[in-house]
Amino acid sequence: MFDIKKTDDAFVMNTYKRFPVDIVSGSGSRVYDSKGKEYIDLGSGIGVTAFGIADPVWQKAVTEQMGKVQHTSNLYYTEPCAKLAKLLCEKTSMKKVFFCNSGAEANECIIKAARKYAADVHGSDTYTIVTLKNSFHGRTVTTLSATGQEHYHELFQPLTPGFVHVPANDFDAFTKVCNTHKVAGVLLECIQGEGGVFPLEADYIQKVAAFAKEHDILLMIDEVQTGNGRTGKLYAFQNFGVQPDLVSTAKGLGGGLPIGAALFGDKVEKVLGFGDHGSTFGGNPVCCAGALSILKRLDDPFLSEVKKKGELVRSLLKGAKGVQSVTGMGLMIGILPKKNASELVMKCMERGVLCLTAKNKIRLLPALNIPKEDLEKGVQVIKDVCAESVEQETK
Ligand SMILES: *Cc1c(COP(=O)(O)O)cnc(C)c1O
Repeated sequence: MFDIKKTDDAFVMNTYKRFPVDIVSGSGSRVYDSKGKEYIDLGSGIGVTAFGIADPVWQKAVTEQMGKVQHTSNLYYTEPCAKLAKLLCEKTSMKKVFFCNSGAEANECIIKAARKYAADVHGSDTYTIVTLKNSFHGRTVTTLSATGQEHYHELFQPLTPGFVHVPANDFDAFTKVCNTHKVAGVLLECIQGEGGVFPLEADYIQKVAAFAKEHDILLMIDEVQTGNGRTGKLYAFQNFGVQPDLVSTAKGLGGGLPIGAALFGDKVEKVLGFGDHGSTFGGNPVCCAGALSILKRLDDPFLSEVKKKGELVRSLLKGAKGVQSVTGMGLMIGILPKKNASELVMKCMERGVLCLTAKNKIRLLPALNIPKEDLEKGVQVIKDVCAESVEQETK
């Protein structure tokens, strides 16, 4: 019989520490391995399958488009691309969209846009972009540079210059850099995802936004993980009453197909022109048709359900044995266990529940339409595993 694990280990570059599970199929928030074992999926492919596996509405949108034309290049117009851009702008008060294929590329695009705007308006020596310590913005050389975690940088020097990392939630540290550097933009995740589901304070976000506006520093929000309904609003910035100049998003937008988007506000609506940026696959009609089917359903009633489900998880975990704290918003949830998160997540997997980790936390990013029963069952397993981890110790 074909040995997936052995072959993958031999031929796929060794950059991922995979769980010892092969997933062959799924439906909604349930996935199945080749032995037929069922799992409740609380990770949704790192927040990507926004409506679960093989969601019928998304699947229909994608397969119908697949039957028409699967790719045209950006030399030609396609309807899904235009419709998706329009809907994204209508739902965010942004003015223009650039489509790409991943979160890192979306960040590359808004970084290029910020530098171009600052050079056009303030001169070519205004290029510094302030980002936060403990942030994550991607794996390309420039987005690694933006990422405020030293351990990602070490092996890949020299990185792109012009990024300064400041501690999160420290407004004075931010203004100090703005007073000593010529700053083009400030790039933030409202909740640091890879950094351990670490939320920024509302007051901090609002102060940074106001300062940025006052000094013509572009407010750039990385919504790759927090976007597309994850926090109970369409985009996380909408929880804080701020309006960014640039937004990057990806992960959940495509419902499982690769798509990224950079959104441009009023101020930067004309910053890029012919030839300034591009992507061969960007705006792919199949990905856009799928994304459109997702975005259309992320309306207020649906988003308030996301919020409620997040509250349900928080209430279930309240005072749970072996759990120190719970962070996050909506269905972006970080659980700080008393014991090692990775080991606990392995135990959950053995018991048929797939979770993620982020730093020292168990991270949950379930499908936004996960049935309440699946969520309750999954969280119960996490609670059991966390409780057992501390019970063993007292014996
Ligand atoms: C995942 C992620 C990225 C990178 O996205 P890719 O699609 O892997 O390039 C960037 N920023 C944030 C906040 C992310 O969570």
